[in-house]
Amino acid sequence: MTVPRPRLRATAASLLAGAALACCGCGGASPPDPALGQAALDEALALIEAHPDRAAGPASRAAAAWIASRLPEGAKTETFPSPRGTLANVSYAPPGVSPAAVLVSHFDTKVGIPGFVGANDGASTTGLLIALARHTDLPVLYLFVDGEECVAEYGADDGLHGSWHAARTGFGGDLPVIVLDMLGDADWNPIVAGNGSARLNAVILRAADDLELPVREGHAVIDDHIPFVAAGRAAADIIDFDYGPANGYWHTAADTPERISADSLAKAAALIRRTLELLTKETP
Ligand SMILES: [Zn+2]
Repeated sequence: MTVPRPRLRATAASLLAGAALACCGCGGASPPDPALGQAALDEALALIEAHPDRAAGPASRAAAAWIASRLPEGAKTETFPSPRGTLANVSYAPPGVSPAAVLVSHFDTKVGIPGFVGANDGASTTGLLIALARHTDLPVLYLFVDGEECVAEYGADDGLHGSWHAARTGFGGDLPVIVLDMLGDADWNPIVAGNGSARLNAVILRAADDLELPVREGHAVIDDHIPFVAAGRAAADIIDFDYGPANGYWHTAADTPERISADSLAKAAALIRRTLELLTKETP
């Protein structure tokens, strides 16, 4: 994931000011659940311990198998060819629910950074999705994508491989897609990427407002939502791209387990739950 250029857009929050006023006092949003946040952190830490190197290829395929083993019965692993070799996405469809969205996290690490384990970048949201699948009945499809990280520079043959594969194969039909990335940062300050779908971004921002969480619409980001947007899907990217001083922990050996927190992952879970509640009332 990277930022193509520092471009700011008018915030969806400002566009929805009237709606926000109309919603004032609507309440009903469930606050962050500390136990769920801890479960998400525990899953993330277990992934890091088992598979600190998840760079695309044999290492990420091994991590994919580990993820599938942590999910409830019925998880599927799909391998596919890529310029990085054979990669593997993992998905899980909870039985007996009518999904309102696809939740996406990449799990791979970026190659070529000594000591990089991707605690926040890759592991944190993977742990979050595993915990949501194990401990909630949220109406979603879960998708864990491989090969998000580019080797040199994002392009047609570099990066976002798992999400391109999922988008091309129509994963989730026409369901909206919500990508989660770097949301374990203990200093929680996420954005919805400005190049996501405007209406879906607005729903996420309204959910954040309902929970009084500090989420805003920010700059464009190259991340796993892009292939779905390109396919004509409603897709958004929730990401905390403010990781350490001047984002200095990003893609470095400083992206370590002690810098992610259960509290942040609990907030992310609450944001997703509220977003899904709102999505069941309107189509973005
Ligand atoms: Zn990354």
